[in-house]
Order: sequence, then C-alpha cells, then structure tokens
Amino acid sequence: MTNSPEERRMLIGGQWVEAADGATFETVDPATEKVLATVPWARGADVDRAVRAAREAFEPGSAWRKMPPSARGRIIHKIGDLILEHRDELALLESKDNGKPVSFAGFADVPMAADTFHYMSGWATKIEGNTIPMSSASPGRFLSFTQREPLGVVAQIVPWNYPLLMAAWKLAPALAAGCTIVLKPAEQTPLTALRLGELIQEAGVPDGVVNIITGDGSTGAALVAHPDVNKVAFTGSTEVGKEIIRASADNVKKVTLELGGKSPNVVYADADLEKAIAKSAEAIFFNQGETCFAGSRLYVERSVHDEVVAGLKAAAEQITVGAGTEPTTVMGPLVSAEHFDRVMEYVESGVAEGATLCTGGRRVGDKGYFMAPTIFTDTKPHMRIVAEEIFGPVLVVLPFDSLDEIVAIEKDNPYGLAAGVFTRDIDKAFHTASAMQAGTVFVNTWNTVDAALPFGGYKQSGWGRELGHAVLENYLETKSIIAELGR
Ligand code: NAP
Ligand code: MG
Repeated sequence: MTNSPEERRMLIGGQWVEAADGATFETVDPATEKVLATVPWARGADVDRAVRAAREAFEPGSAWRKMPPSARGRIIHKIGDLILEHRDELALLESKDNGKPVSFAGFADVPMAADTFHYMSGWATKIEGNTIPMSSASPGRFLSFTQREPLGVVAQIVPWNYPLLMAAWKLAPALAAGCTIVLKPAEQTPLTALRLGELIQEAGVPDGVVNIITGDGSTGAALVAHPDVNKVAFTGSTEVGKEIIRASADNVKKVTLELGGKSPNVVYADADLEKAIAKSAEAIFFNQGETCFAGSRLYVERSVHDEVVAGLKAAAEQITVGAGTEPTTVMGPLVSAEHFDRVMEYVESGVAEGATLCTGGRRVGDKGYFMAPTIFTDTKPHMRIVAEEIFGPVLVVLPFDSLDEIVAIEKDNPYGLAAGVFTRDIDKAFHTASAMQAGTVFVNTWNTVDAALPFGGYKQSGWGRELGHAVLENYLETKSIIAELGR
C-alpha cells in the first residue's frame, strides 16, 4: 500500500504508516456515493504506537522541548502559510470528502484554518507566569512566582462538519503551548487532516509532535482510555462527550469538550427584517445545517411572524442544492447516508407531532445525500424537532410576545453554545444578550467566529473555551515556585 491520494496512510512518529494489522476503511464522496480513498483503521496497537511517539517527542531534551518559543512560533506560522498556499487543493479535498460547497471551503474553512495557526503562532512567545508576593509572609522573605508548562501528551478528537478547521482549532493552540499530540479526525472525513499532516512536516514540526491516526469511534475510545494521555480535547456530540468524561476518570485526564447545540435566534419586530431574514437563513442553512452553533431554533415576534416566515421560505427555496464541487452550489449533500436518514427521521417526527412543514423536508435527486432546506412552523417546545439537535438544514420557528416567554423555554434547553438577536434597539439587544445562557451571542449577525475570540458552551455544550488566549489554559499547567530567601 502506498501513501497515494487513493490509498492514504496515517502519520505516526514522523512516518506514514499502515495500521499494524493492515486494516483499512473507505471514505466516501457524499455527492456521488463513490469511494474517494481507503485509509488505515487504527486500533489499540496503533493508538499505543502513536501515544508512545507523542510521549517520546515530549521527553525533556527532545527537539521540541529544547526549541526556543520563537522558533516554535515561526513553525506554527509556517503551517498557516502552507495552508494558504494550498488553499484550492484543500478546499476541493474538503468539498469532496464532506460534501460542502468548494467555494465556501475556499473562503471560510481553509483561510480560517490558516488564520488559526497564524493567530496562535504569536502566543508561543507570550506564555508567562506571574510574580506573586506571599500574602502571609513578610515582604522579601520569599520569592514566589508561577511558571506555565505544557500539559504533555494530548489526544484530540474532531468531528466531520469542518474537518480541517476543527483540526486547526485543536492543533494550533496545543502546539503554541508546547504539547505533543495524537489527533483523530472523523471516519467520514479523514482526508484534509492527513494532508495537513504533510504540511505540518513540511513546516518543520519535529517527528512525533503531531501524530494523526484514522479510525472510527473505537479508535477514539482507545485513545481516550490510553493511560499515558494527559489530556483529551474533544469536539463532537454531547452523547460521546459524556462517554469521554467517564472514560477519562481512571487516570484523571484533563478534559475539554465542545459539544452540541440548539441555538436560539431571536428576531424582534423592530429589526431590519431584510437583514434578519437573510442572516437567519444563513444561520441554519450554511454548511447544510451541519454547524454546532447553527441558529436552528428561531423565535419571531408575533407581529412580524408571517412576514419573516414568508421571507425565509423564499430564501430557502432559492438555495441551489448540488454537488459541492459545482461552483454555483450553496448547499451540498449531508455528510453520509446514516446522517441523511437521521435528519429525515426528524422531519417525519415533526410532521407526526403536528408541526407544519412550510418548505423542504424532502430528498433532492436520487444519488447522493441531498436534502432540501427545510422550515417548520406551528412548532411547540416539547416537539423533538424543537427540543433536540438535528444537525441538518432544518429550522423550527416559534412566535413570541415577550423575552420572558423565550427565557422560560430556554431554561430547559440543555445546550448553550450560541444565541442571536436581531433588533435596532440597543437596550433590547444587550438585555436579550445577557438573558441568553450561551457562550457566544450574535447581535444583528450570525456565523462570525474569529481566532481571537473565545468560543465554547454553557450547560451541556461543553467544558472550556477554544480560540483566543483562553484556549491556552486547556494546554498548560501552572506551577508555583516558592523560594525562601533566608532573610
Ligand atoms: P460524534 O459522533 O460525537 O463524533 C465526534 C468524534 O468522536 C469523531 O471523530 C468520532 O469518531 C469520535 N468518537 C465517536 N465515539 C467515540 C468514543 N466513544 N470515544 C472517543 N471518540 C469517539 O459527533 P459527530 O456526529 O461526528 O459530529 C456532530 C456533533 O458534533 C454535533 O453534536 C455537533 O453539535 C458537535 N459539534 C460541536 C462543535 C463545537 O465546537 N461545539 C463543533 C462541531 C461539531 P468517528 O466519527 O470516526 O466514529
Ligand atoms: Mg467522506
């Protein structure tokens, strides 16, 4: 087996290798249902090999541990440069493996991945402790200070919706902190992470610092269970997040989690309705609705409910659904047959529970996992389509009369990843923003994330924050050093 585009290998200890037992699996183009490539299926022995490689690269005296922070920062910056140099290639690969429009991958996923490395590269030289005088000793008797140290070997597990970008969100800060890594991309979309592995090598990251192993949930579980992993950083479903917490208990691994969402979006009657409609449509339909912070639960003030719904229906019906590789496509296929069935099952449950299917709810074409943008009205909070994360292009609309009503419903929302508000009234905007239990609140916008701003969830949407300087906390230990000066 070669390391070719059709037969990929995985990266362990600087080598491109097959699984120890030669096992492989296939990754499929969701637009054509054809196999794109075979990749190694890492199991226990491979996970162990990868963790040992990461441990060796973390040993005191290793090339990585001895490297001056400025050199580390330059390498991380170079990864960002290389991603931009390969922008078209990576966008196409992402589009084929995941289904998303190649044009969107080219202006969102790939440049944002590069930006994450560029932004994080600057932190490598700014990891500092504090000099902290003892509160209970005479001044000058002790010298006491803190020192920040990389946490060690980190397991990083990412989902299939933004494969390259999620890998970048995980890898860049861990590298800036000086950790070593075993990354597992999702089984549906391993290809851009593997290509990124080649760019990481080209940028000069020493062997073993970044290991990328491909496999399924059992591979992820073996990685989480490995006794020599210090920390697990996971993005994915809340269900698997809970399993990871349980599995990390044995050796008390540090855990950070970016999990699911069912994010409320509030449109007041005084909003710029044209903008509110366009952005609310984008909030749910961008990336086929396969976005953790999709604005999937829309509250519309009653007096403008019908007007907003009519606008959204028109916007949804204008969306070109097609293969991601077509330049005119706005919505590609869902990622897999399994996921398509899951989303369609939600549509059926919505109809069965009495919601009105305003548009969509059907398959598009007879090949590939294409689905029409879908909107439900006449929905109630207890319906499954309102209560649960669908992770597809399905919007549920609820009319409201007051913010109190929304707050009462949202109290039972298990998630708290994002929220949005559209209004021209600044008081209303900030009052609503403070009432929302969410890690990010968008005002008169949606889908704007930035490498400098912390991102993460309240409630069951996760533990910890990604991005910004906040993310470095996930990858650093704090050591207090106290020296008695003898005076
Ligand atoms: P998932 O099933 O939880 O999978 C996520 C990753 O975990 C995949 O790499 C998966 O491997 C792996 N995995 C599965 N079972 C595991 C186990 N027992 N132990 C360790 N790893 C395991 O999620 P998904 O369906 O791919 O992604 C959709 C979910 O991710 C949604 O809930 C979405 O909201 C959430 N998400 C959250 C964010 C955020 O930032 N908060 C961002 C994106 C997505 P395989 O896929 O190979 O089986
Ligand atoms: Mg695929």
